[in-house]
Amino acid sequence: MSTNKMNGRFERASIRIEAEGQGAVPRLSDLRDIAARLRFAPEDGRIWIDDERAVLLRASVFAGLRRELLESLGAEKARALLTRVGYSAGARDATLAVNLRGSRQLTDVFAVGPQMHALEGFVAVEPIRIEIDVEKGIHYVEQIWHDSMEAAAHIEAAGLAAESVCWMQIGYASGFNSALFGRPILFREVACRGAGDPHCQIIGKPVDEWCDAEEDLRFLTPGEFVNASLVKRRAPFQDAAGAPASPADGDFMVGASSGFLSACGKLQQVAGTNAAVLLLGETGVGKERFAKMLHRVSLRAAGPFVALNCAAIPENLLEAELFGVERGAYTGAGEARKGRFERADGGTLFLDEIGTLNEASQAKLLRALQEREIERVGGSSSKPVNVRVVAATNVDLVAAVTAGRFRADLYYRLNVFPIRIPPLRERRDDIALLVSHFLDKFMGLHGKRVSGFTHRAIAALLSHAYPGNVRELENVIERGVIMAPEGKAIDRHHLFESDELPAASMLAMDPRGAVRPVNLVAEADEPDEEAVQDIVAKALDLAMPLRALERGAIREAVKRAGGNLSHAARLLGMSRAQLAYRLEKDKEE
Ligand code: ZN
Repeated sequence: MSTNKMNGRFERASIRIEAEGQGAVPRLSDLRDIAARLRFAPEDGRIWIDDERAVLLRASVFAGLRRELLESLGAEKARALLTRVGYSAGARDATLAVNLRGSRQLTDVFAVGPQMHALEGFVAVEPIRIEIDVEKGIHYVEQIWHDSMEAAAHIEAAGLAAESVCWMQIGYASGFNSALFGRPILFREVACRGAGDPHCQIIGKPVDEWCDAEEDLRFLTPGEFVNASLVKRRAPFQDAAGAPASPADGDFMVGASSGFLSACGKLQQVAGTNAAVLLLGETGVGKERFAKMLHRVSLRAAGPFVALNCAAIPENLLEAELFGVERGAYTGAGEARKGRFERADGGTLFLDEIGTLNEASQAKLLRALQEREIERVGGSSSKPVNVRVVAATNVDLVAAVTAGRFRADLYYRLNVFPIRIPPLRERRDDIALLVSHFLDKFMGLHGKRVSGFTHRAIAALLSHAYPGNVRELENVIERGVIMAPEGKAIDRHHLFESDELPAASMLAMDPRGAVRPVNLVAEADEPDEEAVQDIVAKALDLAMPLRALERGAIREAVKRAGGNLSHAARLLGMSRAQLAYRLEKDKEE
């Protein structure tokens, strides 16, 4: 492996790399650690990249696939599809980067993207200028791609192009950078071998620094129909111009992963019908958001959307809430009141946590679905209603039916078209998009600007297990925006309470969606600048010699570690040998 010729100035949260001029190609860090993650197991018919299965595909096969895509979808759609596929792969490799090199220099973490791209046989990456400073919000990456596989494949499939064609690779660069820095970074090819240039040249900058980013961002939108009714052709992430979030932002759907897109596709299939839809998924996956989207793209969009969380209403009031009450139906029912069914007439009624309905409400709901009419509590006549019911549950309704807690006939009525919404751990490629989206949303909502996320914050965000799914991620980002100092980057302690972190959070994905612990914080973290200032000021005020401060820290660490030197060394951010040496020296003095 060649020596590291990179002429860089490294700072805590910044990268600066510039080519030295002719003949001096700056190299990124040693890639043997990544290469070691690539394993061939021919006896099992498997190739692994880290924990994920991979395949070897000849470039000519890729060219054939590309030709088919171009012919069947047209250039525009083929480009969008390949850009999204690349984006997802890039976002995934950002997770690999923090898992593999999370405790190293930011430059090394960043290098994983270009190095994976090289290792996988796409391109040889030559950095021209890379300047990244998280605190100052600077992000500029300029690189040359030598021998782009995608450009060659495009020429083979469709001949020389008029425009740049490395769509999947450019999506990869955008996905990797956006995920690794928690803000939307858009890459473009300013030259492309596929268009006759000697090599491809790419530039990556934050979305808001490109004046016409929309043009490229539309290739990342998950599907033409998703969000189309909200903002036409708005990208899955928006520029961070700081405009206040519009009320519709709460309903905005974000994602590019295959699990998310598959759920969206089903939504689109059923939207034009009047069929009942059952949304299945864990708490916090965004079932109400999906229900609202379904309503907006359905024929009922002009009608009302009414939501009710069945678990949030006391059992004895649920019937009145759903079907309304007639005057004097019971003590306290002074006035006649419409229920949710009547209010949703002509529109969509979303019933969340449907599994908690009691027997009486189940019977009435079944009747409303069958007869298309309801009867108010205390009423004697029925009223026709025209409502599409979208139900949601996070429990196993089949089990509830078997156990006799849920009516089988109602279950079949509701389960005409089930859509499973995957938990966030099964769509981790979307974390980057979601982080960017929520950051914009909460900066607007709280009227506050932050410059982005520190490297430690991103490592924590990408590796957190998210038992609370998208809602948890949203809460975490809101907390970060509130806690971080104005104009500065969000750090890990702004996002997570310390006790939330090591045990539950330091988990990484395996291909089956399960999580496994990884040793992401093996080394002591870089200290918080302000905390250091505090301690230094106090020590100077007390005229305390540095040696005494150091000795005190060592003594305290050993005490806290209960005499376990390895543990104490970790607390101090030094090796066990270093600590043993210091202790020995202290004894001598
Ligand atoms: Zn190219």
